Amino acid sequence: MLRTILHIDMDAFYAAVEQRDNPGYRGRPLIVGADPKGGMGRGIVSTCSYEARRFGVHSAQPISQAWRLCPHGIYVPPDMSKYARVSGMIMQILADYSDMVEQISIDEAFIDVTGCRRLSGTGREIAEKIKSRIFGDLRLTASVGVASNKFIAKIASDLKKPDGLVVVEPGGEKEFLAPLSIRCLWGVGQKTGEVLKKIGLRPIGQIAAVQPGDLERLLGDTGARLWRLSQGIDDRPVKPQEGRKSIGHEITFEKDTADFGLIRAALLELTEKTTRRMRLEKVRARTVAVKFRKEDFSTFTRQTTLREMVDTVEKIFPVALELTKKLFQEGTRVRLIGVSVSGLESGNSAAGPQPDLFNQVSRKEQKLAEAVDDICRRFGGRAITRAALIHPKA
Ligand SMILES: [Mg+2]
Repeated sequence: MLRTILHIDMDAFYAAVEQRDNPGYRGRPLIVGADPKGGMGRGIVSTCSYEARRFGVHSAQPISQAWRLCPHGIYVPPDMSKYARVSGMIMQILADYSDMVEQISIDEAFIDVTGCRRLSGTGREIAEKIKSRIFGDLRLTASVGVASNKFIAKIASDLKKPDGLVVVEPGGEKEFLAPLSIRCLWGVGQKTGEVLKKIGLRPIGQIAAVQPGDLERLLGDTGARLWRLSQGIDDRPVKPQEGRKSIGHEITFEKDTADFGLIRAALLELTEKTTRRMRLEKVRARTVAVKFRKEDFSTFTRQTTLREMVDTVEKIFPVALELTKKLFQEGTRVRLIGVSVSGLESGNSAAGPQPDLFNQVSRKEQKLAEAVDDICRRFGGRAITRAALIHPKA
């Protein structure tokens, strides 16, 4: 059966939530991320408002660079517990339209509405309803792509941001893709892109027009996969989550980076987001994993299972850093990194079973982490930094 799949992606999510809740931030360049410390700060931009993007600020950029580009911007630390709460409300809205919802990050989900077209209307109508529900209930905008598969829906949601709605009718996939850059194709990193440019293939339509065998000879398996995508073919199903198996965050650097300092800062931030989310959901984890994608899109994951249940940055960050060091080689250009935890068990020190009564140190760490969360909530997160983790003793 012909499927109808929506990709819903919130616009500048963290920044939009902050602008919604703080009228003074509206219409102004707002940067959510690390403390810029007058240009000396380490760490990165999490998200920024569209007003800030006009100055060249973008997510995953070093915060010091953002400061140079936009010194008069408003800089605020992320409030992950708040964003997680809003995210939950968004997913709740989606669940009203279909059981087939696959959340892929805090502000992004696929929803397969094939089964509810008769009841709720065409893909476009359902997308319009979802957009106006999200705006009506939450005063936030989402961009939506509607298509017959995930690949096309995801590209479509990105084309008319913010507040976009792009529908690709079944049968129109190839035509839709033809003028777009090959960078849109999953698997085209800088290197493959260069190869394709050199031989003169730039828009996707030109790839679609060559013999699949030619591309395969040139680029191996990647070539075969690219050719299939260039035809608009993607059979992957939307997979609804069955309970929560892991919690994590990842970030794509807008420019591939070989700077380990930046990677470390991003990793720390991702770990902090993950642990705040864990405490919010009152879970601890036994397994820590990192995901690491190089510029050529080759993707690696490494994980470690610990002897104790953990939910603090102090416990998780060193593990994630070790795993990352194993994957990183001098000169490696990194496109994306992620941190996740699994082997979840409910209960942290605030609720549920006592963690480890014999381990006073871990108890203390947890108390500290909760105190930090509390201070961040009340004073905006600047009061406490984790300098020791950013500048570890050798
Ligand atoms: Mg988004």
